[in-house]
Amino acid sequence: MLYESFRSMGVERALKRHASGNIFYSHPGRGKGEKMARLKIARLGNPILRQKAAPVDLNDLKNPENEIRALVQDMVETMHHEGGVGLAAPQVARSLQVAVLEYEENERYPGHGTVPLTVLINPVITRYSEEKQLGWESCLSLSDFRGRVERSLSVTVEAWDLEGNKRVIDAEGFLAVVLQHEIDHLNGLVFIDRMDDLTQLAYEEEFETYWMGEEAVEA
Ligand SMILES: [Zn+2]
Repeated sequence: MLYESFRSMGVERALKRHASGNIFYSHPGRGKGEKMARLKIARLGNPILRQKAAPVDLNDLKNPENEIRALVQDMVETMHHEGGVGLAAPQVARSLQVAVLEYEENERYPGHGTVPLTVLINPVITRYSEEKQLGWESCLSLSDFRGRVERSLSVTVEAWDLEGNKRVIDAEGFLAVVLQHEIDHLNGLVFIDRMDDLTQLAYEEEFETYWMGEEAVEA
């Protein structure tokens, strides 16, 4: 694709990583020889995507054998396999407030930065900027579609990590979009719910034909 950029590639498919991709993830909570598993993606129409996910009991995180660690490993494996930059637990049919995200700098379109693998447990957006950004989003759960969505330019997110430590993340631009997209999943929302103008919903192929060049000019 000639005009690929983070903005036009969408949220969960922006990264097509190399075979030697940077997967810096240890495997806590799972014994040697136990394999991570790729999970099936829940697609639009699966009611689990429309449920508010249950919060994780933070006390469970203190137990090294807790099931959240295994779930996170499988989600990371699935996100990498699908070429996504983010994945929320309801998208793998687990109604829990867990999301993972990771992306790398794209050398052709520098400036988006790199986000190391980040695990968000019980995340809450505590601040939305009034300033907005428009961008094309896609979703592993609506894999054939792109839609133009208005999001806050920057947000603050409070969440817990796998060790049960509280984290505060101030994000803007692309990362802010990914966070808003993934946290929406934990509240039963998908990106089309955020669209004011459904004339800007497109199949992937039509997006590439009619919209992508225009976005590249704007970028
Ligand atoms: Zn999504």
